[in-house]
Amino acid sequence: MDFMSGFTAAKQAYDLLKLIKESHDQAIISGAIGDLHGKITELQMLNAKLSGLYQSERDVAVKLREEKAKIEMFTVKAENYELHTTEGGSTVYRSKKPTGSTIPHHHLCTHCYSNSVISILQPGISTTKSAGYFVHYCPQCKNEYRMGKLPPVKPVSVRFPY
Ligand SMILES: [Zn+2]
Repeated sequence: MDFMSGFTAAKQAYDLLKLIKESHDQAIISGAIGDLHGKITELQMLNAKLSGLYQSERDVAVKLREEKAKIEMFTVKAENYELHTTEGGSTVYRSKKPTGSTIPHHHLCTHCYSNSVISILQPGISTTKSAGYFVHYCPQCKNEYRMGKLPPVKPVSVRFPY
């Protein structure tokens, strides 16, 4: 958009008004009134364009503010986690534990973490184990992770009725 054309149109409209006011020739006045109508329409169109532009700039500013708040919140939360490789060989983020704490660790999805999303892994529902390890999944992106080793299977004693 050419902002200068707005100034030019406004200046021309002003000159036309001056001409209408100062002229004593009816033909010149009529011509100037016609031109003035054209200039007013031009300025109105420019005004509509500018308010559209202003609105879209405001929308962008709002989105950027929201994005910034999300990243700030993520940064605060992310400090409580560190990279960890599970027994099953998966790389996840694990909650840091203050020494002596008995609260068990919880784990985050690394894929979501790289997108600034904190997503806590949950035990699998359709797949609960794989190759001797428990499987946890990410509720956000549905990635699956091999976690701790499955407990050894106890031998089943079969008692015969004789
Ligand atoms: Zn995920």
